[in-house]
Amino acid sequence: MTTKLKNYINGQWVESKGSTYLDVVNPATGQSIAKVPAGSSEDVRDAAVSASEAYKAWRNTPATQRVQYLYKMKQVLEANADELAEICTNECGKTIAESKGEIIRAIENLEVACGIPTLLQSPFSEDIATGVDEFMIRQPLGIGASISPFNFPIMIPFWFMPYAIACGNTYIVKPSEKVPMSMTRIFELFESVNLPKGVLNMVHGGRETVDAILEHPLIPAISFVGSTPVAKHVYQTGTLNGKRVQAQGGAKNAVVVMPDADEDTTVRIIADSAFGCAGQRCLAASVVVTVGSAAEKITQKLILSALSKKTGNGLDSNVEMGPVITKESKERIEKLIQVGIDDGAELLLDGRGIKIAGLEDGFFIGPTILGNVKEESQAYKTEIFGPVLSIINVDTLEEAIELINRNRYGNSACIFTRSGAAARKFRHDTLAGNIGVNIGVAAPMAFFPFSGWKESFFGELHGQSAHAVEFYTQTKVVIERWNEEWSRKF
Ligand code: NAD
Repeated sequence: MTTKLKNYINGQWVESKGSTYLDVVNPATGQSIAKVPAGSSEDVRDAAVSASEAYKAWRNTPATQRVQYLYKMKQVLEANADELAEICTNECGKTIAESKGEIIRAIENLEVACGIPTLLQSPFSEDIATGVDEFMIRQPLGIGASISPFNFPIMIPFWFMPYAIACGNTYIVKPSEKVPMSMTRIFELFESVNLPKGVLNMVHGGRETVDAILEHPLIPAISFVGSTPVAKHVYQTGTLNGKRVQAQGGAKNAVVVMPDADEDTTVRIIADSAFGCAGQRCLAASVVVTVGSAAEKITQKLILSALSKKTGNGLDSNVEMGPVITKESKERIEKLIQVGIDDGAELLLDGRGIKIAGLEDGFFIGPTILGNVKEESQAYKTEIFGPVLSIINVDTLEEAIELINRNRYGNSACIFTRSGAAARKFRHDTLAGNIGVNIGVAAPMAFFPFSGWKESFFGELHGQSAHAVEFYTQTKVVIERWNEEWSRKF
């Protein structure tokens, strides 16, 4: 019988109060591997009440004690990384190496959040007037919630949750309904950490659960990661309801290749960026902008590098690229490839229609490259989120930067060059929140904010690092007068 996943509320595994369940499908086989609750507002209410009760004692627990739980979580993730990677690959399709990579990234956020006793320190000004001091303290907000996408089932909730609870908030995690099994297993493993009941809760579901989180009066802070239309909806509805919201959205990341770039390194790194995780990374290279003679230097090499990628089940250690997440996703991506061709792009490598022996029902698309893609084409304007790399040729670095800056997304942009001056101009002038210089996936480490500009982000403070600490705390400024003479009078 297929496993029916449960919510984790107030330290207990409980069935959803909703009656509808969705299939969790292994994208490599097309088979259902579990049932996940479609969600209900009553589940969110129960989790919010549980978190609210737990908050009373948790916010008064010293930060030095709160982080002890995080140290234990790190050990639990490390000790169980192999099992978690397999679960992640089975539900998400990425390779085992990619699944292990995201576990490492999750752990790095726990490590940074363990520094909360220092990160919470605030300024103190003595004698702002005679005998008067002023200082600032950071206090938790109450209950936080994360809503995450399918492409990093393990890592993304850790951009927020460890910081929130280390700061003294209690928390609700809402995994993507497409990939709920990794986080379910993590919550089972975290039971050994013995967090006080209600500090960490998990509610499954899709749209109805998200809308209930956006409306629940006990939840003041929401961290969202997903596509731009949903990020906008979450930001608008959440802020309209008086909540603090950070919403990271979609992307269309360009990589500029200058004529002086080291060809082999550039090609290898771009192919890994474009086709790793089957192109389903929000920092994946999706457009290569070749400047001048860079086009003839790298195009053929890129095709050969893409052709060499072995596509198949991520559990197979020889496989370098897994399937895309769903049948609908595969159809949408294949349609966008055709739109690009119809709009005048040149099909340099076609990954449509590939069959993997023994996995005929899997959602596979091979690496695909479109040359001479038109800026007006939906194939360029839309986030394809699959293993499709577009190439656009321009004459100058200035033109490349202008092209990137006209795009509505601003998650990341990279340049490959040997010139410090070109790299500096690119970093200075490009409108994107994460910049790579001779880097293919400009993913910030946990001690930097995960930036993102334009329609790739709605809000002010990003996930990870000091930004997450600021997001999950509110400042209180205290001005104090203590007069020695008063003491003498007693
Ligand atoms: P998605 O927007 O479909 O879903 C994200 C979350 O929103 C899920 O938990 C889902 O349950 C919920 N949701 C979906 N539709 C909703 C609706 N109509 N109303 C309310 N909630 C809804 O995204 P996805 O397909 O799971 O993930 C891929 C997207 O995430 C891509 O656009 C990718 O670029 C983006 N992403 C962005 C970042 C970043 O840091 N900017 C990181 C990873 C992924």
